[in-house]
Amino acid sequence: MNNENLFQMALNIFPGGVHSPVRSFQHLDRAPHFFSSARGNYLKDVEGKEFVDFCLSFGPLILGHAPKVISIELIEGILNGWSYGTVEPYSLELGSFILNNINIPKIKKIRFMNSGTEAVMSAVRLARGVTKKNLIIKFNGCYHGHSDSMLIKAGSGTHYLSQASSSGVPENVAKDTIVLELDDEQSIKNCFHEYKNSIAALIIEPLPLNSGMLPQRLEFLKFLREITREHQTLLIFDEVYTGFRVSFQGFTGKYGFAPDIICYGKIIGGGLPVGAIASSEEIMNHLAPIGPVYQAGTLSANPLAMIAGLKTIKEMHREQGEKGNKYLILEDQTKNIVSLFKNWLKSNPFPDSNKFEILSQESLFWFYPKENHHPILPRSMKDLPESSFLIHHFKNLFESLFQRGIYISPNPYEVNFTSWAMVEDTQFVHELEKKLYGGN
Ligand SMILES: *Cc1c(COP(=O)(O)O)cnc(C)c1O
Repeated sequence: MNNENLFQMALNIFPGGVHSPVRSFQHLDRAPHFFSSARGNYLKDVEGKEFVDFCLSFGPLILGHAPKVISIELIEGILNGWSYGTVEPYSLELGSFILNNINIPKIKKIRFMNSGTEAVMSAVRLARGVTKKNLIIKFNGCYHGHSDSMLIKAGSGTHYLSQASSSGVPENVAKDTIVLELDDEQSIKNCFHEYKNSIAALIIEPLPLNSGMLPQRLEFLKFLREITREHQTLLIFDEVYTGFRVSFQGFTGKYGFAPDIICYGKIIGGGLPVGAIASSEEIMNHLAPIGPVYQAGTLSANPLAMIAGLKTIKEMHREQGEKGNKYLILEDQTKNIVSLFKNWLKSNPFPDSNKFEILSQESLFWFYPKENHHPILPRSMKDLPESSFLIHHFKNLFESLFQRGIYISPNPYEVNFTSWAMVEDTQFVHELEKKLYGGN
């Protein structure tokens, strides 16, 4: 069965042929590609062709695909059964390893669930339960999963009047989420002034990674910490992408912040479905069964998922001999990879390749249009005419890399990831260079 046939079948039985819209290769003028196995740095498609993978399941696979250390633990885990619906020791190991090693003051308790979406949804409910207030502030350009109160965009015209960004989200839900612009302290002040005592939480991706990469000023984040504290509003850091990615301690630990609630996902499950919220004892004790905020899950803290998560973050936490911190080593390797891509773009591999710049931080990188300078706000990019950047340039970039056996995130607003497997394979940069320049 070739790729095209499989996609035709998929179109017959799944809406749009997919289970998540970002997989659909919209705007790329080609059918989404079927992959059926993966190992280390490579994804293998159904026809047996291998691709270097920089999408890495949108982030969770920080060790690369199917590392032996995890496969073995998972196989052993399977032999013990894979769901008990009882308390079990696996989440205890993962939970205590995290809390003992992230070293974030006041973050003392954690609860596991099944996805980043669930984590944010629960964090929002918890914040409302704790503060007994209703309103939530979020930012244009940040993504927090697909729960109703997060699928909201700024309304046109009347100030603070939000609207659903998805059909099916009731107006009544939309009106309780206020959408503001990143980096705009004045409008946040105004908003707090107007709704003094009704804002339960302000949620942000401390490093926004869902409209491309939009690094914020640390002063802006400090400002958010101060203004929320002043108004007894809880500050939620959505670290679903950045947790265990920008450092073991996530963004919060690395840059020394103290949000009230942290949401985790992606790497915390090592590629199996896990989400989590972590906070102070006082806040977390509002959760059922000891508190009045209900939150539950049949498969929460699934033993296999706990094993994959624990093994993944333990591996990343372990020092690498003389060289020390794996995150710093991975960051160095990311710089090598990015500089290779930068040179390649300069060699004119496709029309207008010089229109791309690469923004990179830690083990993340994003291809973005040069005319956008250094992005902080999502709108500066989204204002570019769709036809110019989105359709022509990104499609050319994606196609050009794809033809060379390199798979990047199939959407111009998604970032790319590097993994420890790219460090462990000492020939990786060399192999990548050969692919880029077409040698063999
Ligand atoms: C991916 C992501 C989510 C949603 O997580 P899912 O596991 O896809 O539900 C939420 N917030 C951020 C910042 C994310 O990157």
